[in-house]
Amino acid sequence: MSKKQQCSFCEAEGSTRNPLIAAKDSNPYGIYICKNCIITSYNVLNGFFDEKHSSDSESNDIQMFDVPSPKELKTRLDEYVIGQEEAKRVFSVAVYNHYKRIAKNEKLLSPSLRAVELSKSNILLIGPTGSGKTLMAQTLAKFLDIPIAISDATSLTEAGYVGEDVENILTRLLQAADGDVKKAEKGIVFIDEIDKISRLSENRSITRDVSGEGVQQALLKIIEGSVVNIPPKGGRKHPNQDFIQIDTSNILFVCGGAFDGLSDIIKRRLGGNVLGFHGKKKGKSEEDSLLEFVEPDDLINYGLIPELIGRLHMITVLHPITKEAMIEILTKPKNALIKQYQKIFELDGAVLKFEKTAIDAIAELAIARKTGARGLRAILEEAMIDLMYDLPELEGYEITLSKECILEKQSPILVKKTNIPKRA
Ligand code: ADP
Repeated sequence: MSKKQQCSFCEAEGSTRNPLIAAKDSNPYGIYICKNCIITSYNVLNGFFDEKHSSDSESNDIQMFDVPSPKELKTRLDEYVIGQEEAKRVFSVAVYNHYKRIAKNEKLLSPSLRAVELSKSNILLIGPTGSGKTLMAQTLAKFLDIPIAISDATSLTEAGYVGEDVENILTRLLQAADGDVKKAEKGIVFIDEIDKISRLSENRSITRDVSGEGVQQALLKIIEGSVVNIPPKGGRKHPNQDFIQIDTSNILFVCGGAFDGLSDIIKRRLGGNVLGFHGKKKGKSEEDSLLEFVEPDDLINYGLIPELIGRLHMITVLHPITKEAMIEILTKPKNALIKQYQKIFELDGAVLKFEKTAIDAIAELAIARKTGARGLRAILEEAMIDLMYDLPELEGYEITLSKECILEKQSPILVKKTNIPKRA
């Protein structure tokens, strides 16, 4: 029986930093345990997680936290995120540096470097909606087993205005960490639509703050690293309420935004130098090519305050999803949508197939809807709903979807087969 080699406890795939140890050769199921799980087991058996050991366990936890290398992080991203090569590399390095900064063992350093403070480097992902910004953050949070909170900057307000307090982001992170403050303090916060709170943004709400700067200042406070009082259940702060204190200095903040119109600012700055340089050589639009030249000053001109930009050290660009990438997203990643549907059908003893033209049609529709790869799920759901309704009666059938099934809601081709495994 061939089975992928992965830890039977945490499903990590083996690597040089986190090797797998196999159970007896004769075992037909391929049972493995990875180094990290052995360390965790060791700690559990020795009571390092008990109350009485809590002060020791903190330092042990930090020394033993084996941060995967940027290459390992990128390999993991490759399994789930299609394309966006440069962004995946930058993101992997940023995440590696961040957790290395937490896990560092000062004792091993040369004395002259021990006193050097590593500053926190947060990340800004610039890219259109549905290009994989949130997916990248979610994928690495899951891989590293750290909590993640995803927020939308447009719902945030300066204290005193209608809307959500910035501290609620941290309440959400604490909830994702099952109330474990120490775990939350090493988590990831993803703040989407950061461009919408810029001073120049048209999306600003007058019920919030007129300049957009108040929210940016409030965000700056938590991003730069401080001890924040948060209401444990979220909502508005009010006197006589119990607060939990969260130190944000080791939380990794990832901000994302489409930054419509940013390319015009970059073009103006580059002036004549840009002529004939960007071109369409890689099949990219002019706007898309220009974004690669982004500098902090452009973002300040866009309306983000310099202090906030100063805290987002790593800036990288994600590109719009092309038709070819849409097709890959539908079919290639570990949990690709088409694979998910095929699994649902197989569980009911049926085989689901898509003609190539059907997949092309789904990809083209998603591009026309301008919602990036996010639109793929909705298109497939619309096309599949009738079939899913009838699925329990289709055991033993091979079902093939054509382009017409997607575009014109035609019925799929059903062929009764004798060699299909029975319903699971
Ligand atoms: P955003 O860039 O707006 O944060 P998301 O990362 O939330 O977009 O993407 C929405 C969904 O679209 C994801 O859950 C995933 O299914 C799909 N998707 C988007 N970009 C990619 C990509 N590059 N590779 C694979 N799937 C993607």
